[in-house]
Amino acid sequence: MTIAIYPGSFDPITNGHIDILKSGAEIFDKVIIAVAYNADKNGFLPVSTRAELIQESIKDIPNVEVDCFQGLTVEYAKKRGASVLLRGLRTSFDFEYELQLSQTNHALYDSIKTVFLITKPEYNFISSSCVREILLNKGDISGFVPEPVAKYLNSKRDDI
Ligand code: ADP
Repeated sequence: MTIAIYPGSFDPITNGHIDILKSGAEIFDKVIIAVAYNADKNGFLPVSTRAELIQESIKDIPNVEVDCFQGLTVEYAKKRGASVLLRGLRTSFDFEYELQLSQTNHALYDSIKTVFLITKPEYNFISSSCVREILLNKGDISGFVPEPVAKYLNSKRDDI
């Protein structure tokens, strides 16, 4: 059984993330989408909210589990019995960053393999940071994020 970890900040999860996750779930027996966080740094949304929104957004994918972790991704992968890290690639900027990250992870734990999936063109420009920016400027985020996420963020507009 091949278990893949899909690590990220997912602050918040977007349609681009979901696309990579769905493809990963077709390839691997199980995918754990894991929200990486640092207790000393606040993100945009609390980690528990990010995980709940992911859970609501992936209800129709049976072999996906949601979790949160702190610390090194490879240590978390070892703990969960995963042999693959799943990451998404949009642009050459992603590639430069991901290449270094993947080689660092491999140097730390040589059994881990990073698998990259290329995003579909329609999701290429979507990022969590652009969703946050649109939201802060009172724009419409509904085309960028899964429905439960849009619903939640729209309900919180006045607090943001
Ligand atoms: P991180 O903080 O680790 O960069 P993100 O939540 O921003 O975490 O992204 C997690 C993973 O999803 C990364 O591999 C990133 O390249 C990928 N990703 C982000 N947005 C998209 C998208 N629109 N299409 C495909 N992959 C994406």
